[in-house]
Amino acid sequence: MAELLFFSGTMDCGKSTLALQMDHNHKARGRRGVLFSSHDRAGESMISSRLGLQVPAVEVFPETDFWVELTLRQTMGARIDYVICDEAQFYTVDQIDQLARVVDEMDIDVFSFGITSDFRTRLFPGSQRLIELADRVQVLQVEALCWCGKRATHNARTVDGVMVVEGDQMVVGDIDQPLDQPVGPSSDQPLDQAFDPPFDQPFEPDAGPATRSQADAGRAPIVGYETLCRRHHMRRQTSRTSPSLFSNEVPLPFDERPDEQHGTRGSQLQGAEPGGRS
Ligand SMILES: [Zn+2]
Repeated sequence: MAELLFFSGTMDCGKSTLALQMDHNHKARGRRGVLFSSHDRAGESMISSRLGLQVPAVEVFPETDFWVELTLRQTMGARIDYVICDEAQFYTVDQIDQLARVVDEMDIDVFSFGITSDFRTRLFPGSQRLIELADRVQVLQVEALCWCGKRATHNARTVDGVMVVEGDQMVVGDIDQPLDQPVGPSSDQPLDQAFDPPFDQPFEPDAGPATRSQADAGRAPIVGYETLCRRHHMRRQTSRTSPSLFSNEVPLPFDERPDEQHGTRGSQLQGAEPGGRS
């Protein structure tokens, strides 16, 4: 019996890597598959994983009809045992319905991979339909992390480094890759300062490194994404705007006695588990 499976997770949790591994495993057992993707970071007609793997795929457009696409291939003599659908959150509701029909009527396994909710924490229509129709929904076990070290459950969109919560649902961008920025709260700063900004504190664009200078005004804004825990998504605190990371620019206090410093760090690291403070 063929199945419709939905593997869901945040950005950066290894969905495309798993999609390619899945394809490999089935291929190794002599099964034949077709790979689909939509708006992959590597460009059209491609499934690429953050680990560097890259495989050609059929690009899914809004007018793509999976039923037509797959029956056509079968008519032309192709054997199809399974279908890999990456970036399935971008598919339309109709396309997900077509995939369910492919499973039921053509007995083809459909392995779909996607993000459940957008940067506003709202479900993508394609993902919603998959949750409604899939035989199984599996939340991926490779967890993306928030800058604070907690499990990242939400996707934040940034425009020129500043988190936004309004805009079109579908804007393709890549995960922001902050360089030289350690993960987690700074151990040099009291946790009260690291975690206690007012809940609805608006981010002041001129307070951080994300300021757009006059010279930048003419260029198109750069859209990026970052995975966050729910609390920091609600507070709109990304790695760039978190007070704890700004504090890393402050030189370490080398005049402290080493053992004293060690003790302080140890206790703060223990307290850094944010669970007790939420
Ligand atoms: Zn967090």
